[in-house]
Amino acid sequence: MDFRLTEEHEFIKQMARDFAEKELAPGVRERDEKQEFPHEAIKKLGELGFMGVVIPEEYGGAGLDSIAYVIIVEELSRVEAAVGTIIAVNNSLYCCCILNFGTEEQKEKFLKPIAGGNGLGAYSLSEAGSGSDAASLKTRIKDDGDHYIMNGTKMWVTNGANASHYIIFATIDPEKRHKGISALIVERETEGLKIGKKENKLGIRSSDTVELIFENARIPKANLLGKEGEGFNIAMQVLDNGRISIAAQAVGIAQGALDAALKYSGERVQFGKPIFEFQAIQIKLANMATEIEAGRLLTYQAALLREGNLPFAKEASMAKLFCSGMANRAAVEAVQIHGGYGYLKDFDVERFMRDAKITDIYEGTSEIQRLVIAKHLKNDR
Ligand SMILES: Cc1cc2nc3c(=O)[nH]c(=O)nc-3n(C[C@H](O)[C@H](O)[C@H](O)COP(=O)(O)OP(=O)(O)OC[C@H]3O[C@@H](n4cnc5c(N)ncnc54)[C@H](O)[C@@H]3O)c2cc1C
Repeated sequence: MDFRLTEEHEFIKQMARDFAEKELAPGVRERDEKQEFPHEAIKKLGELGFMGVVIPEEYGGAGLDSIAYVIIVEELSRVEAAVGTIIAVNNSLYCCCILNFGTEEQKEKFLKPIAGGNGLGAYSLSEAGSGSDAASLKTRIKDDGDHYIMNGTKMWVTNGANASHYIIFATIDPEKRHKGISALIVERETEGLKIGKKENKLGIRSSDTVELIFENARIPKANLLGKEGEGFNIAMQVLDNGRISIAAQAVGIAQGALDAALKYSGERVQFGKPIFEFQAIQIKLANMATEIEAGRLLTYQAALLREGNLPFAKEASMAKLFCSGMANRAAVEAVQIHGGYGYLKDFDVERFMRDAKITDIYEGTSEIQRLVIAKHLKNDR
């Protein structure tokens, strides 16, 4: 066992950090304020291979490993968590889903361009009435020869307004619950697909979250991932993988909060000395740094298991559960260390605090992570 990063991983970390500092930091506050999608940055991330990090080169990706991927998500999220969201959805929910469940034809047509940064992917499981209970989704598909006809409204679609391709989960019959659900690749230009309301969010505001409305949209059967009725199983396996990304995003947010608090505590003078000199502040910083390291190790563990093709679902849930709580605690403490200034939009820590909250909610809430972990504990008895 070796806790040091390899030379290649150190290089990737530095590359991602430099990119975030140079390309994301200058406009991050303005994009957050205006809910503006970082088009330029995403284009450049595509050129760097960061839109398909673990996807083999033959399918348009960078062919790197899972540790490289979590390093990249952490470093980008350390500066702009919303960019972490955008690339996490594209990489782990869209590209990895097609890599793992797609046919050769589907990989060529729907994976290669997106992993190479020529297009953007989204993953749409949730609806207004079905979040944690994903099997209760209502968007319907009806058999129509070599097509399906899709009707219904999906909600909470990250990347939805800017995506070129979507993985949509829909049911042949809601009564069948998880057994009726199928996964379909849907192209943006599909007739009968409309982009609905864009949500006005608390955090990760430069990533877009929209409704998708399907009105008699015709989807070729050739776009079915796996077999009919396998969609729920596909959705859950994809989320196991996705949870590693959210853990990495949370570590990045927490690290950004710690770095900002460390800097500020060295500069802010009260009672004649920098506030870092007060033990109460040192204790906060020490707790933050220790928790971040613990979260990072949990995240690396889940990523390494995945990389070794070993079971990783329990460890991915543990990493997400711990890191999301940790990021929330770290961001709140960073605001506290900034005093009144931390409450202003002139400093980054208030954004970290707003951004951290989402890691507790999407890709399975913290309550759901505990259920997943407990299920594994029961099975392991
Ligand atoms: C910004 C944002 C982006 C998103 N992006 C996507 C996306 O790209 N694709 C996508 O498909 N979805 C996406 N989602 C949806 C997200 O995954 C859901 O919001 C999440 O799964 C929770 O579902 P819900 O909001 O319906 O809450 P509910 O399921 O209604 O839960 C409400 C509360 O009840 C708790 N709860 C529910 N069931 C149980 C239980 N059995 N035991 C204990 N507690 C329980 C929950 O933990 C939560 O605290 C996104 C959401 C947000 C906010």
